Amino acid sequence: MRLACAEIDLSALQHNLQRTKEIAPHSKVMAVLKANAYGHGLVKIAQHLGDADAFAVARLDEALALRMGGITKPIVLLEGIFHPSDLPILIANNLQTVVHDETQLEAIEQADLDAPLTVWLKVDTGMHRLGIEPEQFEAFYQRLKGSKNVAENLRLMTHFSCADDQQNDKTQQQTSLFKQLVDGKQAPLCLANSAAVVGWPTTHFDWIRPGLMLYGVSPMLNQIGRDHGLVPAMRLTTRVIAVRKVKLNDAVGYGGRWSSDKDTMLAVIGLGYGDGYPRHAQNGTPVVILGKRYGIVGSVSMDMITVNIGDNPDGIKVGDEVEMWGPNLPVEEVAQCASTIPYELLCNVTPRVSYEYITAAR
Ligand SMILES: *Cc1c(COP(=O)(O)O)cnc(C)c1O
Repeated sequence: MRLACAEIDLSALQHNLQRTKEIAPHSKVMAVLKANAYGHGLVKIAQHLGDADAFAVARLDEALALRMGGITKPIVLLEGIFHPSDLPILIANNLQTVVHDETQLEAIEQADLDAPLTVWLKVDTGMHRLGIEPEQFEAFYQRLKGSKNVAENLRLMTHFSCADDQQNDKTQQQTSLFKQLVDGKQAPLCLANSAAVVGWPTTHFDWIRPGLMLYGVSPMLNQIGRDHGLVPAMRLTTRVIAVRKVKLNDAVGYGGRWSSDKDTMLAVIGLGYGDGYPRHAQNGTPVVILGKRYGIVGSVSMDMITVNIGDNPDGIKVGDEVEMWGPNLPVEEVAQCASTIPYELLCNVTPRVSYEYITAAR
């Protein structure tokens, strides 16, 4: 019998892509698949996003894994190259690159390549992580246009820092600055991450760059996927491995961090931080057993968690399935109980968890 299992619903994934296209009907979709497709399985997810126009990853290794897996769609390296020796590999594997600084620009200008490279020039409009300064834009644009190593169709992009917050006008400011800079240039534009796709329709332009929403999870603060018509693609489950009694004041688990204020029963479930479940999930973080919510208690261990099931009115027994997050329990809510974001929980699912791909009727 399997314990920890990540069930990935490929029809939910496809539904979310269609929903994304409904929300941004005039934009091409660059589906973001970095970090093992947010923990969902890189190649498998790519194989089932046939309606995306391109894929994006953070690292060359991720792009090469996609090519090895038979994926032929355009792939963009969101952070570009890290060394000039990457460039021939990009050409050989038909990979597109972001240029966000002088080092990368010089490497491209000085390279001896068999074919020109498709480049996305990234401008820092206020995120202050990667990207050239607005004042450098014209010079970079001209140098890239003038390089024999750069393909005709130079593309332009920027990234938002606060699009998840609808009350913050930073997104508008970044968009205005970007529009002003690129005014008059005949180049495809790409700005929006999931939060901007959902919350800021004026940022959609030629291409959007969604990640999280494709997996059915809300990019917006205090909302869940369902609020945007999305369906969670991952259902993380395990099983009950023991049901036992504890007495009033018995301290449970490492550090004796929790004790009951009355006699109660615990379900011990077979999943822990060694599977990627957050160790910082607080007492009361919900799990679903037999269709009902119960709260975890005590420290999350590597392989196990204790769940308070009271006097066990529903007769929970060894072998019963437990949903940690999924369609019946939003990962957004679990993330909040662990003082983190759903991105981190999804990415952290470890290889010890068995992955099962299903196609639910929809
Ligand atoms: C990760 C990433 C995205 C996707 O972000 P989501 O919030 O998951 O939609 C888009 N653009 C860049 C540059 C990224 O690094």
